[in-house]
Amino acid sequence: MNQNKIKILYIEDNVVDAQILIKSLKDVGKDKYELDWVETLAEALIKLKQQHYDLVLADLYLSDAEGVNVLMSIQDIDNRLPIVVISGEDDDAIVIRVMKAGAQDYLLKSKVDGYLVSRAVDYAIERKHIEKGLSFLAQYDSLTGLANRALFRERLSRALIRADRNKKIVALMFIDLDRFKNINDSMGHDVGDELLVEVGKKLTACTREGDTIARLGGDEFTILLEDVACIDDASLVARKILAQMQEPITINGFELYVSPSIGITLYPIDNNNEKDLLRSADAAMYKAKASGRNCYRFYTADLNEHLQEKVEMENNLRCAIENDELLLYYQPKFTIDNRELIGAEALIRWRHANKGMISPALFIPLAEETGLIHDITEWVFAEACSQNSKWQLAGFPPFRMSINLSPKQFNQPNIDQTIFNRIVCADLAPKYIELEITEGALVEDVEKSNDILHSLKKRGIMISVDDFGTGYSSLSYLKKFALDTLKIDQSFVRDIMEDSDDAAIVTAIIALAKSLRLNVIAEGVETKEQLEFLRQKGCNQAQGYYLGKPVPAKEFEQLFLEKNDELSFGLASNG
Ligand code: C2E
Ligand code: CA
Ligand code: CA
Repeated sequence: MNQNKIKILYIEDNVVDAQILIKSLKDVGKDKYELDWVETLAEALIKLKQQHYDLVLADLYLSDAEGVNVLMSIQDIDNRLPIVVISGEDDDAIVIRVMKAGAQDYLLKSKVDGYLVSRAVDYAIERKHIEKGLSFLAQYDSLTGLANRALFRERLSRALIRADRNKKIVALMFIDLDRFKNINDSMGHDVGDELLVEVGKKLTACTREGDTIARLGGDEFTILLEDVACIDDASLVARKILAQMQEPITINGFELYVSPSIGITLYPIDNNNEKDLLRSADAAMYKAKASGRNCYRFYTADLNEHLQEKVEMENNLRCAIENDELLLYYQPKFTIDNRELIGAEALIRWRHANKGMISPALFIPLAEETGLIHDITEWVFAEACSQNSKWQLAGFPPFRMSINLSPKQFNQPNIDQTIFNRIVCADLAPKYIELEITEGALVEDVEKSNDILHSLKKRGIMISVDDFGTGYSSLSYLKKFALDTLKIDQSFVRDIMEDSDDAAIVTAIIALAKSLRLNVIAEGVETKEQLEFLRQKGCNQAQGYYLGKPVPAKEFEQLFLEKNDELSFGLASNG
């Protein structure tokens, strides 16, 4: 059988009419058409169920059916099949009804020849093709071919109705790719796009035919599982997805790994309406992310309240920069021996219009999750650098400003250049800026970190490992990395006097820093005794409430002045 032939099912109960048309179509179309002729609707319906046709050519007055009913019976079997009506009936009212019922064309037997029928057939197929394309665009994601948001919502509504009727469970999954943004930013959008396509294929492979897989946008996918017998059915699919995604995806010769965070909610167990269901799945997905990513979590009721707060905070945070609600506090750093002011750590604060001061411990993780961290970091750098520059211009003794860098930020492409530019923009020498980076951020990709650190160092920017001791503390990378300072985490300092383990850890870190010729600073020093302990162990710098709390810039200037007073007092008494 020729693949390119147009297969037509021709329904005509008048044998003479049929023979004339078949012959004339053959004359015009040569071998273009393959035509099956039947005399009744009943026969036609059997044929349509048995095989594929490109078009139906039908007379509407048959022995077993008449008019629009013929059309509807055909559409019941395949509502996307183009139908061209060929009739002896020349009545405008009928023509309109037939066209409204979805026929592509209405031809009058008395006015057509083979050429006209052939043209009508070709047009009808072409038009149906375009219609299909348009409806495809409206319902499917053009990148992955998966359902889009609109189709997903439609399928979800229908699934819920069906579930009610059949007393079945529907599972809704939200899937977010954990490191997709990094890949997209560093490898380019083409690679990102291809990755999404591959992920779409993997998700499809993990589900059954009747399930709906959709891409809602970006790296957000949803899966609708119908006919779920028990909760375990949903976990099974989630586990399959996790297993599938363990395998790397190769694009342009690169092996890429993306892990999914999956949130699952069940209808009607968790929620009884569509909107709540979507929110619950989203909340469960965030829980999966918070549980360390690359895992799945089911929705639980306590997530809702938490989610509401979070959504509100996220919305507020978006406006915080424009509304001038962010500010920096500065906490002094001193040498332990002679209590010399050697620097300050810039610590962000959010003065919320209604809620008052919000701790960065609350909003920085949220900012990281939502990507707002990029704007926030940019603001912090601009503010901290310009403050340091201002202080120097005002004649205060130059010192180093420490800025915290989120792991997310550290892994941005060209972060070294970006940071350097920001410092230079503020008319500041790079040696007056120190970055505080956690171990976690550094060991995520050791080779890459190494390059970034060397590049930063080459430009004169100092590096401190923040919260040291809480993470990997692996000697192998410590030796390799271009570091300046280890900052002993405050959790060890807090119990230094009571907990011998903590005391031992702090002692070991100080010794380690010395052997690596790194500077060492203790944070969270709250008492004189702690400071004394650190001094005895050879720690040279400290930061903490005992020495100075984080304060606004104006208040911080007092510290310079105290120092200057001492200095001028000393000079005066000498002179
Ligand atoms: P971190 O970098 O470990 O900052 C030290 C935290 O300890 C600060 O809390 C500081 O106020 C607090 N602290 C200092 N001395 C003492 C002390 O003697 N006792 C006690 N109990 N606490 C002390 P803060 O300002 O709430 O910041 C919390 C975390 O938020 C920071 O931890 C840092 O990870 C993050 N953060 C703050 N500002 C920024 C920023 O501008 N960018 C980024 N990415 N993260 C920031
Ligand atoms: Ca810090
Ligand atoms: Ca710290």
